[in-house]
Amino acid sequence: MNNVLSGLAFNDEVRFYIADTKEMVNEMNTLQMCTPVCAAALGRTASITGLMGLMLKEDQEVTAKLIGDGPAGTITAIANAVGEVRATIENPFVDLPLKANNKLDVAGAVGTSGTLQVIKNLHLKEPFVGQSEIISGEIAEDFTYYFALSEQIPTAISAGVLVDVDHSIKQAGAFIVQLLPNAGEETIDKLEKAFLELGQLTTCLEQMSITEIVSSVFGDDFKILEQKSMKFLCTCSEERYINAIRMLGTDEIKEIKQDPIIECTCGFCKSVYLIDQTKI
Ligand code: ZN
Repeated sequence: MNNVLSGLAFNDEVRFYIADTKEMVNEMNTLQMCTPVCAAALGRTASITGLMGLMLKEDQEVTAKLIGDGPAGTITAIANAVGEVRATIENPFVDLPLKANNKLDVAGAVGTSGTLQVIKNLHLKEPFVGQSEIISGEIAEDFTYYFALSEQIPTAISAGVLVDVDHSIKQAGAFIVQLLPNAGEETIDKLEKAFLELGQLTTCLEQMSITEIVSSVFGDDFKILEQKSMKFLCTCSEERYINAIRMLGTDEIKEIKQDPIIECTCGFCKSVYLIDQTKI
């Protein structure tokens, strides 16, 4: 199912990416057993990182690590160019009271200071590593700041997760809009205004499809270049764990091999591997 659109708008001066990630975030939420506030933090990070993955080429991969000083701990999301995303949150059980405006206190869980680290494996000699400070903990703002600071691309990001009363995911999505180098002042003003008028992305997703949202922001001045899909997919396997253990230090391997069966649990999909120590 195609749940991602990308294209150009406003006289080809703006590039946009939008995803409806309800299914993906719901699956991650179930696996990670998140509280609503942690589901929102995890879902926003995974949805934005998923779109960043779709900006890459072929077998490239992006990892975003949100290392905040809040009780939820580090959130890690990994995405590739074909829309496969996996994500995990260190303390998924953190629960906080709603904010005065009845919204989930995502910044309270993530923290309002710390680091957003982005690592892109572009299959060059060294991976690309970009980093910026966490400025709000609400996640979309933090990624916006990252793009401006580390990649020098003026970017507007909206990301949201709406959690239902039964803790399932009612709506989730992300919208990234970037100014291309040829963008004029008029386009910048137009975009700012349109993005402000858009309001909460989850509210839009309750009433509109992603195509309708794009159309409500850009009017008829846009063209869709690609329709893609984004989903949860973990790449773990017993072989990967065996290789990872083999890369540890000699002493560590010796200690691990004292048990006849080595138990490894994947942080992303929660699969459990029982590895016979003779395989190491
Ligand atoms: Zn896994």
